[in-house]
Amino acid sequence: MRSNKGSVIKKTDLPEKICAQCRRPFSWRKKWERCWQEVRFCSDRCKRDAKTKNQCAAASVEDEFI
Ligand SMILES: [Zn+2]
Repeated sequence: MRSNKGSVIKKTDLPEKICAQCRRPFSWRKKWERCWQEVRFCSDRCKRDAKTKNQCAAASVEDEFI
């Protein structure tokens, strides 16, 4: 019989976030290893959709830094 010590790193142990656009959880990816803290969207599509939405709703994205 083998015993599982739990020392093996599973792929499912990757950090997760909730996408600010589609509200679905997504996991860490290699391409985000340098900017994971800043990642807010699960995909470029969500990023684009969020931008479009903001422009429609609030038309003044540039006023963000008031
Ligand atoms: Zn998303």
